[in-house]
Amino acid sequence: MTIRVTVWGENVHEQKNKAVAEVYPNAIHGTIAAALNADPAITATTVTLQDAEHGLTAEKIAQTDVLIWWGHAAHGQVDDKIVERVTDAVWGGMGVIFLHSAHFSKPFKRLMGAPCNLTWREAGERERLWVTSRQHPIAQGLPDHFELETEEMYGEPFGVPEPLETVFISWFQGGEVFRSGLTYRRGAGNIFYFRPGHETYPTYHDATVQKVLSNAVKWAHNPAPRILNPNDAPNTSIDIALEPLVERGPRLHHDGEEGLR
Ligand code: ZN
Repeated sequence: MTIRVTVWGENVHEQKNKAVAEVYPNAIHGTIAAALNADPAITATTVTLQDAEHGLTAEKIAQTDVLIWWGHAAHGQVDDKIVERVTDAVWGGMGVIFLHSAHFSKPFKRLMGAPCNLTWREAGERERLWVTSRQHPIAQGLPDHFELETEEMYGEPFGVPEPLETVFISWFQGGEVFRSGLTYRRGAGNIFYFRPGHETYPTYHDATVQKVLSNAVKWAHNPAPRILNPNDAPNTSIDIALEPLVERGPRLHHDGEEGLR
């Protein structure tokens, strides 16, 4: 069976900005999905912000092994119920890849628990990405470094927690550097943040970037069955304790109660 990828596109710049529509006539999400579908191990579909439930119904999430998220202009329009559904799925084992300006998306900020802020400049600079973890599956088949001739600059400090691994760092023509490929585990879910992908530049048409994305999908995929109740916090009474127990001291909770949230 192939890895089922859902590419979530905010789909606002493509509709409103002529320059973006010219670079991405099939929209950013459509371009990413088409590139991934060239890999026989992956089946990618697309949904957008404008779809009912932003395209992320419970059924669609259940059929998604890895979610890819591109957003920028309309983070605030994403319904908190959908954010909760996405984060629950990640805690339950769904893989997720956040691209570029998704550093400020609601689900990324929720999963990171941090400001996720950075410095930035839109000046069409050259970006040089260096592989910092050569044996990492996301860097498989890549050269030691590669360049994107025109990109937006993102600079440190990047306000995220220390990652599990840093797979790429970027250098920009203006002198800044940025940790541009970061992995996290939240609950049972694998998370990858990948920096490139400003909407006015042809980044997602780049073969090396496409290779990173297909590698990242395979890394993020967790083949184990999804944990359906990742928020459960069951009370286990002394009668089912593994060793004999005699209760001591006063207590606040009653047997079998749900507990406080
Ligand atoms: Zn951008």
